[in-house]
Amino acid sequence: MSQNSTRQAIVEGVELLQQSRRVVALTGAGVSTSSGIPDFRSPGSGLWERDDPLKVVSLSSFQRDPRPFFDWIRPLARRTSEARPNPAHVALAELERRGKLETVITQNIDGLHQEAGSQYVLELHGSLRTARCVRCGTHEDGMSVLTAEEPSVPVCFCGSVLKPDIVFFEEMLPPGVLAQAQHEASSCDLMIVAGSSLEVTPANQLPLIATYANARLIIVNRERTPLDHEADLVISGDVAEVLPELVAGLDR
Ligand code: NAD
Ligand code: ZN
Repeated sequence: MSQNSTRQAIVEGVELLQQSRRVVALTGAGVSTSSGIPDFRSPGSGLWERDDPLKVVSLSSFQRDPRPFFDWIRPLARRTSEARPNPAHVALAELERRGKLETVITQNIDGLHQEAGSQYVLELHGSLRTARCVRCGTHEDGMSVLTAEEPSVPVCFCGSVLKPDIVFFEEMLPPGVLAQAQHEASSCDLMIVAGSSLEVTPANQLPLIATYANARLIIVNRERTPLDHEADLVISGDVAEVLPELVAGLDR
């Protein structure tokens, strides 16, 4: 997309926002790359290029031996603990503050939407901010557990492993959170997807639930997505630039 067509798309995006009353955002790892947290699929920075997530982030391999998982997640957790919200997170928090945005549904596990001030956040894939003992259920602060050098596998006082509250492969999404997200998708009149490859199920079904219920759909991403043809508007660009421009456009 040329700069001119991105500009034109932003003007159209502002119009769609102005016409809408119940806006819901669905975000992915792309909203946090400007905060220094790599996404999973971008060439060069993608976390999946180095390790096979099906192996390290699957429940069965974690149960067999949790060490490879902790070795993999630690650098990501350190980056997350140092990361600050960027203009994409701030723009969504501002839309909510103005009463335009109902909810942010996120696939991210970094907690940056809340840090930016968003109050209504549905974390489809859980959060790195808390961890839970696999045996007695005791909660711990996920960040301090994951950023400590030792032990290499964090343990509860009862002696069992502390597992971060993120959704592993082979694990169900938190049922209440998914149901709430589906409800939000079916009752919005505009969904804005930002920074998601829309490759992950069931998150990538939410835009279809929205359009099926006659909502408009805007996709903001720097790559194409499999749902671009379903969208009323595709804005190809950096979410940390485009989302603030959409919000600023509401004042013009
Ligand atoms: P993804 O990595 O599959 O896709 C991210 C998309 O964002 C890509 O299409 C990429 O081109 C685009 N992108 C990256 N930076 C961008 C930017 N600045 N502006 C516009 N587009 C940008 O991520 P996903 O769709 O969220 O799903 C994969 C899984 O990754 C999720 O399950 C999530 O739990 C996990 N994840 C989370 C984090 C995090 O919490 N920050 C980080 C990595 C992975
Ligand atoms: Zn315990």
